[in-house]
Amino acid sequence: MSQSDSQVQNTLNFQNCFAKLGSPFFTTLHPSPIKSPYLVAASPAMLRAFNISDEQIKEPEFVEIFSGNRVHSSSCPLAAVYSGHQFGIWAGQLGDGRAILLGDLALRQTNERHEIQLKGAGMTPYSRMGDGRAVLRSSVREFLCSEAMAGLGIPTSRALCITGSDQYTMREMPEKTAVVTRTAPSFIRFGSFEHWYYHEKPAQLQQLADFVIQHYYPQLQNTEHSYQSLLKHVVIKTAQLVAHWQSVGFMHGVLNTDNMSILGLTLDYGPFGFMDGFDPTHICNHSDSQGRYSYQMQPRIGQWNCHALAQALLPLIGDVESTQEALSHYVEHYEVHYHKLMRQKFGLLDQIPDDDELFAEYLDLMASTRTDFTLAFRNLSQIKHQPSTNDNALRDLFLDRAGLDIWLERYRLRLQQENSNDVERQLRMNQVNPKYILRNYLAQQAIEKAEQKDFSEIEKLLKILVNPFADQPEFDQYAQLPPDWAGQLSVSCSS
Ligand code: AMP
Ligand code: MG
Repeated sequence: MSQSDSQVQNTLNFQNCFAKLGSPFFTTLHPSPIKSPYLVAASPAMLRAFNISDEQIKEPEFVEIFSGNRVHSSSCPLAAVYSGHQFGIWAGQLGDGRAILLGDLALRQTNERHEIQLKGAGMTPYSRMGDGRAVLRSSVREFLCSEAMAGLGIPTSRALCITGSDQYTMREMPEKTAVVTRTAPSFIRFGSFEHWYYHEKPAQLQQLADFVIQHYYPQLQNTEHSYQSLLKHVVIKTAQLVAHWQSVGFMHGVLNTDNMSILGLTLDYGPFGFMDGFDPTHICNHSDSQGRYSYQMQPRIGQWNCHALAQALLPLIGDVESTQEALSHYVEHYEVHYHKLMRQKFGLLDQIPDDDELFAEYLDLMASTRTDFTLAFRNLSQIKHQPSTNDNALRDLFLDRAGLDIWLERYRLRLQQENSNDVERQLRMNQVNPKYILRNYLAQQAIEKAEQKDFSEIEKLLKILVNPFADQPEFDQYAQLPPDWAGQLSVSCSS
């Protein structure tokens, strides 16, 4: 087939808006090919979004382009520079050490453009000690979690596909190599701003801020105090994002400032995890010995990261008071959003001051005997005004049944107070409390099969997780408590 016969070749029409920033912001380069690439998985939703058909993904060009083995004629690939604070310490220059931006593509429905990045596409000038590669294991985790988070309604970068190769990449042991194609309106990070601030380049700092405002916060263009407003908007989005994570028991694992999206998206999936048995001190990244990024720390870390961004924007904003004003929105928006989500999770419509205590008591009960986070909320929807055998699905989850029964009495009184309707409440609660989440052990099962070139489990999990609130009774086993061996799984930064 000649290049012009290829449908996918003709469908893709890259532009590269980021490249307009000019050379100090990136290095242009080609991805490094991988050996005999093959398609591991593709997201039907993202294929549709970019108007790529099921036939087109079967064309050899699809795999060639999204493995980085062939550069599309319209693409001008590049790696961006950024810096950041890692584990609270200034790390200096980082950058796209293994991600290569192919450019941006138009979305079919809105014509909005989203950037397309190949993660694991080879070394760049920012690779430092790294090899520029990603392994199949971490690529499957990023692919599935991106799409699962979107299914949960949580702002996130998305994943279009994974291509794999039998070529090995060395980690703690040799692992199969893969490239994950991910997409977002922009991958600009807090660390992109810190880069120019700490390298004392005010002109570039301003250019980047103007670029972000022009393309992603156009409502702030030509307004007074636009840089302060930019900070405020990012602060609010970040606070709401973290509140959303807390509400589903998601832990990012490496909340360094270079992993913080300027658009408030969940970005750079590494050693993330969803809570199984509830433990607020849980650390999902076993390299995080201090627990800086534990579940309970995430809200404070989100705020810390916003402070780091504020510092970087200070030369543009002009005075400390104005940055403080912008930062002051964090706590308020975190609390408001968290409590809104919690009210929904408990099925309540009215807002009563005692609710905070009611929620905290339930979470304490869950924590005291490590009740499964997801099931404790999903099964709560089965509680009706009158105690009955319906309660058992919930009661079976708690070791402290007497404690739960006392709490349930209070909960029922609270439901009476707002004349809550059992049927309607259950429907509402099941739309916010997921039945299916990407538990580590489920990802692990899909990875182990994929290592053997059986990609069916990835496809199945994707299908389940993009609809996490739907009952899907044929997949009930995916909504069960994790097996005992799941507790032994550990996830490190190695990816
Ligand atoms: P992360 O904590 O995964 O977000 O990565 C932190 C920094 O290390 C970023 O600049 C990454 O691009 C870079 N990095 C991570 N893994 C690799 C790798 N295998 N090769 C090159 N750079 C990497
Ligand atoms: Mg990163």
